[in-house]
Amino acid sequence: MLKIQSIWEANGNIRDFAGVTPILHSQALQSDLGLQLFLKAENLQTTNSFKIRGASNCIVKQLRSTPNLQGVVTASSGNHGQAVAYVANRLGIPATIIMPETAPKAKVQAVSRWGANVEFCGTTSQQRLARSSEVALEKGYVEIPPYDHYDVIAGQGTIGKEILEQVPDVDIVAVPIGGGGLISGIATLIKNLRPKVQVIGVEPESSNSMSVSVNNGEITQLEKTHSAADGLLTLKPGSLTFPLVKKYVDKIVLVKEREILDAISTCVQYFKTVPEPSGAVTIAAALKGNWAKDMKVVAVVSGGNFDMEKLPGFLCPQF
Ligand SMILES: *Cc1c(COP(=O)(O)O)cnc(C)c1O
Repeated sequence: MLKIQSIWEANGNIRDFAGVTPILHSQALQSDLGLQLFLKAENLQTTNSFKIRGASNCIVKQLRSTPNLQGVVTASSGNHGQAVAYVANRLGIPATIIMPETAPKAKVQAVSRWGANVEFCGTTSQQRLARSSEVALEKGYVEIPPYDHYDVIAGQGTIGKEILEQVPDVDIVAVPIGGGGLISGIATLIKNLRPKVQVIGVEPESSNSMSVSVNNGEITQLEKTHSAADGLLTLKPGSLTFPLVKKYVDKIVLVKEREILDAISTCVQYFKTVPEPSGAVTIAAALKGNWAKDMKVVAVVSGGNFDMEKLPGFLCPQF
């Protein structure tokens, strides 16, 4: 299991890369909707998602134990790929990001910006994971997984520390769930320090592998997933994250696609900041959940990366 000490160490390791993101509050929203909602704005983080925390902790630790590290590789092309590319570039080590042949240009550009080598491989995540292991062997690179690694989970857990410091009287922390690294780190920290604070996970209805697995009592693979929340499309929970979620997370709530898009426009209206769909699921859950009434809720807004041509559809779903 993950030790709380690893999260304190991560907090020291990541500070050259990750900032302390602000907590946003809207008096108008509180007045209009009667909700005490606070946003932990990881959409304003370096590379615009929390993934920089786990990626930098993992890479810094690898470099410390292997000073002549040849490079890093990951099969993940979204926010995690960007974070790995950024950290490697800052540390002056090579990075290879394996992407599907169908990757949108914006994603290729986002990692190329940080000097990473992009390699295209197949269309399925299995093909890319296999290629990532091959590159690791061929070039002597280390693989940096997006969630199922304790150093990655510990890095994400640093958000929990910041939330307890920034909102000391928080009642509930709401966290998006993809593979479960983000919530595992945050829940481990919060439940060890302040067990009375509730940690609530949020998944899209049509990509709910963690809640299905928790209900079944074992890791369960979905046949398919779909959601505008493209950072949450995971077919099954991680083998390290699943036990942590089972142990520490109070409940998991599901949100509909329409609720996710409405949450983006509500967020822009009241908080004047734009989350990506994966980051808006927590706002969607708080807006509809009666669990949020009379509670001080911190919603983790996990990221803010999206293709600009999608913006009109986010803001006016009928557009
Ligand atoms: C990766 C990601 C998530 C999900 O994180 P997990 O650790 O896989 O649960 C949520 N939101 C955004 C923006 C992400 O990039």
